[in-house]
Amino acid sequence: MPKFENYINGAFITPNDNNYFDNISPANNADIIGQFPLSSSSDVDNAVSAAKQSFKAWKNMPAPKRGDILRIAGDIFTRRKKELAKIMTREMGKPTFETEGDVQEAIDTCYYAASETRRLFGQTVPSEMNEKINMSFRNPIGVCGIITAWNFPIAVPSWKIIPALACGNTVVWKPSDDAPHSGIIFAEILEEAGVPAGVFNVVHGDAICGQAIVNNPDVALIGFTGSTQTGTAIAEVCGRMNKRISLEMGGKNAQIIMDDANLELAVEGALWGAFGTTGQRCTATSRLIVHSSVYDIVIEMIEKQATKLRLGDGLKAETQVGPVINKKAVEKIMSYIEIGKSEGAKLVFGGEIATGNDLDNGNFIKPTLFKDVTRNMRIFQEEIFGPVLSVSKCHSLDEAIELANDCKYGLSSSIFTNDVRSAWLATKELEAGITYINAPTIGAEAHMPFGGVKGTGNGHREGGWTAFEIFTEWKTVYVDYSNKLQRAQIDNY
Ligand code: NAD
Repeated sequence: MPKFENYINGAFITPNDNNYFDNISPANNADIIGQFPLSSSSDVDNAVSAAKQSFKAWKNMPAPKRGDILRIAGDIFTRRKKELAKIMTREMGKPTFETEGDVQEAIDTCYYAASETRRLFGQTVPSEMNEKINMSFRNPIGVCGIITAWNFPIAVPSWKIIPALACGNTVVWKPSDDAPHSGIIFAEILEEAGVPAGVFNVVHGDAICGQAIVNNPDVALIGFTGSTQTGTAIAEVCGRMNKRISLEMGGKNAQIIMDDANLELAVEGALWGAFGTTGQRCTATSRLIVHSSVYDIVIEMIEKQATKLRLGDGLKAETQVGPVINKKAVEKIMSYIEIGKSEGAKLVFGGEIATGNDLDNGNFIKPTLFKDVTRNMRIFQEEIFGPVLSVSKCHSLDEAIELANDCKYGLSSSIFTNDVRSAWLATKELEAGITYINAPTIGAEAHMPFGGVKGTGNGHREGGWTAFEIFTEWKTVYVDYSNKLQRAQIDNY
């Protein structure tokens, strides 16, 4: 059985307590991918110390030179894309066409960040006084602790790690214990690209390891992607320790279908949004709000196509929908299906564990649809994170928007309509960080802001230029060349 190690100070090293956990393939629980370190706080301390020591030299490397290294990382991700996609699929389940897309997002992020290192804009503005110049610069923050979920094992970490490094920070990353192998390859790629020892470190483990990163006083910033429950707990600690924290958390995203929509397109979008990545995306479509005059036909169209989706091992070319991540997730999703039935929602299809052929050893749940879901139901309000779509009826655009907003999360949203006014009103009123018009709730691009409102985030945005806001602090500089004391707000008024 292959054994993998932490990546600290430029070397793959054994965890201090010599504890490891098994990485189990969700498509076949008999397939153990390898053993990965179950790190303790002493491993985290070593990684943070390496990151702290390497900070000065890395921040003082000219930013475009850091960019050159990240561009090479993009080239290596490109070269290893197919190999890495297979590794990701084996450990977290989604089909390889999706994991290849996941790697592509990291490639795009590397190239984008590399180009931004030639900008990292500050400001030069007029002073209140003569012979004085006012400027501002972006400075890196220090050691960044990055903690991530498993569902986008390369893309989501890249949204944080790559801009953090581009800005001159050093990083200690804890990948999810459900997708640790991807973290090993990430480290190999950054090392080959030329990231110096200590600048980027990977420590594997569970919540204990994550907590050690959060609690370490030398970690200046936490970048977190995961559930709202975990993110909120981490934020409490960061609040007490006065650390900067950026949170990307849960979602319960709604797609609206109006009576004037292109129904074929809307249904295609709903299928991809709800059952792509087996519904395990923060941006997954988990609520569908359909105008009453097309409600029955839309459900009929979805049923016809969803029941034909091919479940299986994501490594097989014919697979359209992979497994869910682990047995705990199976239990959680199945319990929500029971909750939906007991609340009075009507189960239209699915609702069962999928068995037969190659499915018996994996974590497979049939794509599931509930109709007549009302706002007071838990399956309308709570994140299920599985292949379960809740459909509700609306009678007007106002009602559709009001239903979509009646939820504690606010990540993504979508409306299918051919009416310009409806599209713009929805864009204006939907309480979500992202709104798609005539596209499903998923499909973020690396150079655009990504994140959510309400229970999904804490005001930051990853992706695009906004990621650089998270990972820098302002330094304001006044240069007075008048050769005399000029007192602001006093001498010139
Ligand atoms: P999770 O919250 O259980 O775990 C996320 C990470 O935090 C893991 O690495 C985990 O080991 C670590 N962790 C757990 N408890 C911790 C603690 N007390 N202190 C420090 N670290 C801790 O989430 P998950 O099950 O891995 O992922 C699914 C969730 O992630 C969903 O809610 C999904 O919506 C969300 N997600 C959000 C986005 C986004 O960008 N908004 C993207 C992907 C996933």
